[in-house]
Amino acid sequence: MVNINKNFENLVPSYLFAEVASKVSEFKEKNPDMEVISLGIGDVTLPLAPIVVDAIKNAADEMGEKETFKGYGPYEGYEFLRSKIKDYYATNSANIEIDEIFVGDGAKNDLGAILDLFEETNVALIPDPVYPAYVDSSVIKGNGISYVSGNRENGFLPTPPDFKSDIIYICSPNNPTGAVYDYDGLKRWVDYAVSNKAVILFDAAYERFIADRKLPRSIFCIEGARECAIEFCSLSKTAGFTGTRLGHTVIPRELKIGNSSLRDMWARRQASKYNGTSYIIQKAAEAVYSEEGLKQIDISIDYYRKNAEIMSSALEDMQIEFYGGKNSPYIWFASPDNASSWETFDLLLSHGVVCTPGSGFGENGEGFCRLTTFGNRDDVLKASKKLRDAFGG
Ligand SMILES: *Cc1c(COP(=O)(O)O)cnc(C)c1O
Repeated sequence: MVNINKNFENLVPSYLFAEVASKVSEFKEKNPDMEVISLGIGDVTLPLAPIVVDAIKNAADEMGEKETFKGYGPYEGYEFLRSKIKDYYATNSANIEIDEIFVGDGAKNDLGAILDLFEETNVALIPDPVYPAYVDSSVIKGNGISYVSGNRENGFLPTPPDFKSDIIYICSPNNPTGAVYDYDGLKRWVDYAVSNKAVILFDAAYERFIADRKLPRSIFCIEGARECAIEFCSLSKTAGFTGTRLGHTVIPRELKIGNSSLRDMWARRQASKYNGTSYIIQKAAEAVYSEEGLKQIDISIDYYRKNAEIMSSALEDMQIEFYGGKNSPYIWFASPDNASSWETFDLLLSHGVVCTPGSGFGENGEGFCRLTTFGNRDDVLKASKKLRDAFGG
């Protein structure tokens, strides 16, 4: 008889988005005439850039012609894209080589799959609050989990603990808190990882939302990171690829545990379990990383930034404490009057705005809520007014 992976029994059921959805639909039923604006879901709303759409069409045409048809591509991605990604890193002052870059179908998948390289005896160190996927993939693997707290005192940027751990998750700019590490903050983590012989799994899905160019957009901007870090990146949020699917993972050659190169292990893992990302979508990504492509995706990012400004200034006017919004598409605000996350959610919903209760992202999220800036401008303007009504500003 086959045995199942019993670790699944240890997964904590995620009621967060289901609970939000059911409360929203109940409210809409009772208040059919009230407009409800969602600033809750972490998905982009602006369409793909024109240059990306053209690249997809051209690549589709190539696939339809005998002379230019492509079958299986390289497991690690086409060189035309990997060389563009390498050049992109150089513009962010991070030097990586083409053979350290692996193209995939998004960051979430690789963040889970990378655990194939490590034993289940490892202890994962996970910030709280956090993007739920890190916890779930560690639980499915059977790893032990320790937490580091993000809170008011550290500006939701946890510092290394005084105990050991093996696999460290860092997400900067952070989902859900919008907090971003500076060079020194990341350097502390790199030093901790090196001295503990641990590995940092660095989630850079929001790197291009960093407006302040003094802040690092890659862990590989940090001295020493090449010996201890793997970076996961994605075009989902930066270029509207949530439904198109493309990301990449960077594993430096220096990253070795004993004599084993994690880069080589991952190359072997991909060859065994992954058959490459669609040629058409890799051509789309190549277009993103062109000069014109980056200009075009920045138009969308600037639009979201402007949304963030509008929402931030409403919160500032009401003197509500918040994090993020400047270098990140998330705004993480403290419930006025010490209300719980869900109480604030209910209050905002009664005014027609949907946020995400911070307590759904971990214990330390209690008392906070997340707003996303991915909405359209009219909705954001209306929502800001509703925020003022709700919080009496
Ligand atoms: C949205 C998001 C991702 C992107 O995942 P994809 O699989 O590339 O769509 C990764 N990490 C975080 C923290 C995210 O919020």
